Amino acid sequence: MSGIGRSRITLVGVGLVASAAVTLATTTASAASGARAIPAVRKPLAGKIIGIDPGHNGLNWTDPSFLNHKVWNGRQWENCDTTGTQTAGGYTEARFNFAVAIDLAKILRTDAARVVMTRTNNHGKGPCVNPRARILDRAHANVSIDIHADYGPSWGRGFTVLEPVADGPNNKVIKSSERLAKDVHLEFLRHTPIGISNYYGNNGYIFRKDLAGLNLTTMPKVLIECGNMNNWADAKLLTSVRVQREIAWALAEAIIRFLRGY
Ligand SMILES: [Zn+2]
Repeated sequence: MSGIGRSRITLVGVGLVASAAVTLATTTASAASGARAIPAVRKPLAGKIIGIDPGHNGLNWTDPSFLNHKVWNGRQWENCDTTGTQTAGGYTEARFNFAVAIDLAKILRTDAARVVMTRTNNHGKGPCVNPRARILDRAHANVSIDIHADYGPSWGRGFTVLEPVADGPNNKVIKSSERLAKDVHLEFLRHTPIGISNYYGNNGYIFRKDLAGLNLTTMPKVLIECGNMNNWADAKLLTSVRVQREIAWALAEAIIRFLRGY
């Protein structure tokens, strides 16, 4: 995990520079007022709103008619949602998505972000894909991530970043979403043991114009398929608590990198 260490050092380094500047300024002020200098705390996401959309929900499978009712995805009518996939061992995608989302929210809050999630537990059904997009749009999130895992061919492995295609509502965030996609791709490779997909997309990227979450977004957003639950080796990684935390860490680092505008 040398990748994580290296990245943290960079962040702490930036904090130290800021801290030194604050100390300098406060020393000047305190010379006059006699007040004590307040040490600066590293809060890279202070003032930022981050949207997290953990795909599907734990009880979606219990209500097919709810899942199958049609909603407008910005281009066409589609089903409200699906059950999501699962591993051969029965570990559901909904559970995986939510576990990563909770880990990610924790990291982002530690970094002082305000986090908005489209669902707050894994034992309900819904919301449908279009209200999920609306929740994040209305929260005026600065950036958002949709978290999923895929069901691909059993031989296929790896992650893919799904990007929006201009359709009206999302026109203004196509370029920024492309930048976010690159940051997610980079940090995912850096911090997780999951490689670039060998069965889907092009070098770990694909443009999708049939998904409400990407069609309706008014902030930079990508959807990540973190791996293939139908491949035994990917499934082993995706169901590991350690790897789930590494994925969350990678996404947090990508968000910080994106908002800094590297
Ligand atoms: Zn999914």
